[in-house]
Amino acid sequence: MPENHTVAFLGLGHMGGPMAVNLVKAGYAVAGFDVVPAALEVARAHGVPVAASAVDSVSGADVVLTMFPSGRHVLDAYQGTGGGPGLLAAAAPGTMFLDCSTINVDEAREAARLAIEAGHRSVDAPVSGGVVGAEAGTLTFMVGGDAQDFEAVRPLLEVMGKRVVHCGTHGAGQSAKVCNNLILGASMIAVSEAFVLGEKLGLSHQALFDVASAASGQCWALTTNCPVPGPVPTSPANRDYQPGFAGALMAKDLKLAVNALQSTGVAARVGPLAAEIYDTFAAEGGAGRDFSAIITDIRNKSGQDKQEPHQAAQDDGSPE
Ligand code: NAD
Repeated sequence: MPENHTVAFLGLGHMGGPMAVNLVKAGYAVAGFDVVPAALEVARAHGVPVAASAVDSVSGADVVLTMFPSGRHVLDAYQGTGGGPGLLAAAAPGTMFLDCSTINVDEAREAARLAIEAGHRSVDAPVSGGVVGAEAGTLTFMVGGDAQDFEAVRPLLEVMGKRVVHCGTHGAGQSAKVCNNLILGASMIAVSEAFVLGEKLGLSHQALFDVASAASGQCWALTTNCPVPGPVPTSPANRDYQPGFAGALMAKDLKLAVNALQSTGVAARVGPLAAEIYDTFAAEGGAGRDFSAIITDIRNKSGQDKQEPHQAAQDDGSPE
């Protein structure tokens, strides 16, 4: 792949917009496109050259990067809908199809199969790090594809991210992402239930944090994204749960995890339950809040009764 890639960048939304800006700043020739005119305008205002159509954006491109809401969007755009040509047909042979959207593992494998069948190359590279990471160029990319194709896209991904991990063959990037987010979603629920239980038992947030953060309960949900204000001043709980990582995205990613659990036959119980919990949370007002606000849901549904910290100390083995 030549040093000076020409990148067709499709999907200039919350993530794709700033990622495209970083590619332009690094000197890549970018042709941006989005089906929503307002997204195109914002990208243009930030210096991203835009194309008149999806097909126009891929002509002359050696990389077609997609950053779409779902796998359906990716497969439809690749194949074309409503009689128009798809991206696979419009691109020159040997084009690198680089999908950074978060989609089902099976859909990522299907996208790779279609791209390769059409004479192209394919890599899935979903991200973590959110809009802040997209703007700062500090995303983590989880990459699935051949070793050679991974090496080919690595310099481009390093412009937009600070960590680029080759996870295996096609679909492995998505696999790593759903597995990680299954851990994250479930651990945040466990941490939140523990804090609410601590409240009921009269244990202060700080005391629980001091013990668990240095003990076997230690995890990212506790020590970085702590769901109660105070112990970790930078966590979203200290700014009324502004995301961060929005509840809607956690609900989406856990649905993808459940699809993967079902299609592989894993005897999972916590994952599907976590997916259901975030789905309800997102539907009941948590969609735009950080996912750690799940603690407010748990607390609200737990009633008011709680012990004061000094009562707990008295109850704790001391004779009355
Ligand atoms: P978004 O909805 O803001 O952006 C997606 C864009 O794709 C939209 O502007 C939409 O108009 C455009 N689009 C859809 N179909 C298209 C087509 N055929 N051609 C051109 N444009 C098309 O979503 P986002 O927040 O930028 O997220 C994008 C992806 O990144 C999702 O898969 C999401 O799960 C993942 N992700 C998001 C975050 C985050 O914090 N927002 C974090 C990690 C991963």
